[in-house]
Amino acid sequence: MREYNHIKIEKKVQKEWEKKKIYQAKDGEEKKFYSLIEFPYPSGEGLHVGHIRSNTAMDIISRKRRMEGYNVLYPIGWDAFGLPTENYAIKTGKKPAIVTKKNTDTFRRQLKALGYSFDWSREVNTTDPKYYRWTQWIFLQLFKKGLAYKTKSFINWCPKDKIGLANEEAVNGICDRCGSKTEKREKEQWMLAITKYANRLDKDLDLVDYPERVKIQQRNWIGKKNGVSIKFNDIEIFTTRPETIWGATFVVVAGEKDKFTGRYVTNPATKEEIPVWEAEYVMAEVGTGAIMGVPADDARDREFAEKYNLPIVENYKKAGFEDFGKKFTHFKLRDWVFSRQRYWGEPIPVINCQRCGLVPVPEKDLPVKLPEVKSYKPTDSGESPLAGISKWVNTKCPKCKGKAKRETDTMPNWAGSSWYYLRYTDPKNNKVFADKKKLKYWTPVNWYNGGMEHTTLHLLYSRFWHKFLYDLKLVPTVEPYQKRTSHGMILGEGGVKMSKSVGNVVNPDEIVKTYGADTLRIYEMFMGPFEESVAWNTESIIGSRRFIEKVWRIGNKFLKQKNSSGLTLPGVPGGTHTVQNSSISKILNKTIKKVSEDIENMRFNTAISAMMILATEMEKALEKGQTLNPQKGLALSVEDYKKFLQILAPFAPHITEELWQTLTSQGRTLRIQKGLTFRGSIHFSSWPKWDENLVKDQEITIAVQINGKVRTEIIIQMNEEEEEVKKKALSDQTVLKYLIDGHPKKIIYVKNKVINILP
Ligand SMILES: [Zn+2]
Ligand SMILES: [Zn+2]
Repeated sequence: MREYNHIKIEKKVQKEWEKKKIYQAKDGEEKKFYSLIEFPYPSGEGLHVGHIRSNTAMDIISRKRRMEGYNVLYPIGWDAFGLPTENYAIKTGKKPAIVTKKNTDTFRRQLKALGYSFDWSREVNTTDPKYYRWTQWIFLQLFKKGLAYKTKSFINWCPKDKIGLANEEAVNGICDRCGSKTEKREKEQWMLAITKYANRLDKDLDLVDYPERVKIQQRNWIGKKNGVSIKFNDIEIFTTRPETIWGATFVVVAGEKDKFTGRYVTNPATKEEIPVWEAEYVMAEVGTGAIMGVPADDARDREFAEKYNLPIVENYKKAGFEDFGKKFTHFKLRDWVFSRQRYWGEPIPVINCQRCGLVPVPEKDLPVKLPEVKSYKPTDSGESPLAGISKWVNTKCPKCKGKAKRETDTMPNWAGSSWYYLRYTDPKNNKVFADKKKLKYWTPVNWYNGGMEHTTLHLLYSRFWHKFLYDLKLVPTVEPYQKRTSHGMILGEGGVKMSKSVGNVVNPDEIVKTYGADTLRIYEMFMGPFEESVAWNTESIIGSRRFIEKVWRIGNKFLKQKNSSGLTLPGVPGGTHTVQNSSISKILNKTIKKVSEDIENMRFNTAISAMMILATEMEKALEKGQTLNPQKGLALSVEDYKKFLQILAPFAPHITEELWQTLTSQGRTLRIQKGLTFRGSIHFSSWPKWDENLVKDQEITIAVQINGKVRTEIIIQMNEEEEEVKKKALSDQTVLKYLIDGHPKKIIYVKNKVINILP
């Protein structure tokens, strides 16, 4: 028997795929499918096993779609601007661009070793000037529409990272990069008016297929609240319960501390004169920044009234309120703080002119390239290192040609990822960010898998940019992603977070070398439910490896037969006689159905477990058949085995390709692209169908005994779970008559034959 040499097989198969470019997507052919993963940040640590989990999941889905006849786009790129690279540059003096190049080379090599069916011809990199030219271009469109603006505001400042953070990055006053407590600093900042899209970002969640928890999280973050605004003289209050106006005995406006203003206004319902207070508990950014105090109906208002001895009217009559208010919708969402005072980001393409104000860089002058600097260190004054390069900063105003200065802030690392999925449709275009026809063909993304932690950041930001581009008629759909799913994290052994400091980071290179990419892929998909976090366990990789080896052994039995019997294979018409095993056909058909459905529902672990059972049954049947009928060939047809290889192919693409090509003498010839054909890849064979008749479970009747005497019969499924059979028996009317309190002393079940109840 040929030994299973994963290194040899995986290298050989990958080389062949690459040579024949079989995973390159073709623009504009029938039935497209666009599958997407969040493109990685190429850190110096290399690929994380967590990347492998989500990449493999979408690879499985992409491969299945190809076998279903879809033209699939499964692209990859690098979200390469960001702090770790910059901090590394500060520490070592190495240029971020060079560090990025080195890191992406490592990631690329690692991803290729895992056999992903990425279309590498469409690789993008957010730090490539040819890419960020268009990020800057989109920013200018936002600027021209008034949706990018500069304002002095309090921002979340991380004293350790020396960087301003968006609200989304500083939840509860903690920097989400380093965990430091953030400070409030007043700074001139670039803002993006995402709030202008708040209502649509909320409403259009109805149009997409996202997990409920993702929708809820986005909706809560947007925080839409329908209410009413009512004027108490010149003070406009916001309330969601306008009918309580009849009990309002004071008005409170947002303030830094509690104090009475000395003013009185008229309650428009009761016509009473009521006092106006300032208080800490009312937020300036909520609603209109003012409320009416209804102590009888609101706990916080009551507390305030009691503290300051304000009148409380209990049991007031609630009458109409229509005459007083008008509808008012409040959103919790704030505008997006878009500038960073750092080096490694897209320069904001705006010029500051004393005479003309903020002037956009003419589009023909894009990209505004990052200049070389001596020091990447941010300054304590909060200015970007770019501010120190006078040659770059000093420029001419495009309008009046007078002396002017460049904007030295850069964009946040969320900029490039806000539109990258559009660039994949047309990554080399120099005239527009993507060709309209190509966008029309490929978008929306059909299935996007990514981390839950991006729900109120990247996922929301990119929906906002997409809607803006839609309004400019530059993209054809309202929403960027039709379907979104999320994976659970991979934790270190013992369930703690993987980190360098704990020393529990798993290096995928070693696993690929020792066990093979197919084994690693199977292991990561098998380790637990996809949506849940799960702890790494190197010992259990062996189980996945054994499964792969079993698949190899079975395949080699066929090859042995092929060699000894001359030309043809058993099970193929005209081949040697086969002892067909009908129970294997049944398990096979059930497994095809299960794997087909499980992949769609991302239940990869149960799909693999079903295939493991099938492989064991197949091997058993082969061994048994050979002992019983040594002359009659194998107890399993090669066609059935090949179907098994096909459903395993998306999970373990290398071994299945190798076995398929050896077992198949005449493969389907496929046109890969003009002038290129690829004969016989399993990954372009047709996804197998199951036989509905073989999938149905057989119903059988079994006897039900009470104290050993047959009293009745029940109908069960062949091989039904024992618990189910017991439940059925105990709910039978005849059985119930014999039971005193519904709880028998003992139940004995002889599988598929009889059940005996001792009441
Ligand atoms: Zn920080
Ligand atoms: Zn000017």
